[in-house]
Amino acid sequence: MRKSWKTWVALVAFALAGQGVLALAIDEAASATPAAPQVRAVATIFPVASIVREIGGERVAVTTIVSSGVCPHEFEIAPAAAKAIDQADVVFMVARCFDGWVIPAGGIPKGPAWVEFAQAVRDSLIRIGDTFNPHFWLDPRLAGEMGKTVGRELARIDPADSAFYADRTKIFTARIDSLDAALRATLADTDAKEFVALHPAWAYFAKRYGLVEQDVLEMSPEQEPSAKWIGRVLKDMKRHSIKVVIGEEAAPQELVQMVARESGARVIVLDPLGGETKPGRNTYFALMGYNASKLGAGR
Ligand SMILES: [Zn+2]
Repeated sequence: MRKSWKTWVALVAFALAGQGVLALAIDEAASATPAAPQVRAVATIFPVASIVREIGGERVAVTTIVSSGVCPHEFEIAPAAAKAIDQADVVFMVARCFDGWVIPAGGIPKGPAWVEFAQAVRDSLIRIGDTFNPHFWLDPRLAGEMGKTVGRELARIDPADSAFYADRTKIFTARIDSLDAALRATLADTDAKEFVALHPAWAYFAKRYGLVEQDVLEMSPEQEPSAKWIGRVLKDMKRHSIKVVIGEEAAPQELVQMVARESGARVIVLDPLGGETKPGRNTYFALMGYNASKLGAGR
């Protein structure tokens, strides 16, 4: 197992040095037995699972609880997922106010290590009254912090592989830097600088890239907005000449379409969650690129 990793590093170093006998190296890598995962991890939502995979590589087997296209806000955990938690070495969740359903009725179990990312980024949380907006993974810089937390936690659980996790955390952090620069460039002159969103998923993203989430139509999917509130949003949109309403793929479109119709804005449907089965959105990096290009395109 350790040998195959070293072979791979050698292959990359070789290729980067531009003097590799590439075909030979690939042959050797392919013949090595793939490493069996050392750590069993559970992640509540896909973006978290993807970040854990970036750091854990083949050493970590990740089970994602919420499948693609399912709303994580009002989720009910199935018995199979509860079993995966029982057998896990580590559980990664976003925040109690978001995916707190992953915590069993009797409280956090003694078995697996338990990581709540909100604690790792607590100084950067956007507060709302006595709670906070939980969608911080949509800010790549905060996702970078999540990656570092994953690296530290995996090294603690599986100390024999700590150098492996440290290397991958470094690579992840460098890729986050490039992603951040690419998103900034894509969004530099979008006409969606100010927008209204169906729900407050894009607050962190907006803050990072100098966009303004002027209003949200509903604070959470379980709270239907009043006609009075929608009226106020429409007035705001007119006053600020807001041209874009952000809908979400996994959510009903009627309200978003109605607001767009009444205000003359256009709808951009984004995806805060992605998923293993969604081509072009099946890694954290791809997902962020997808959303930025939809927001940055078309003026
Ligand atoms: Zn949400």
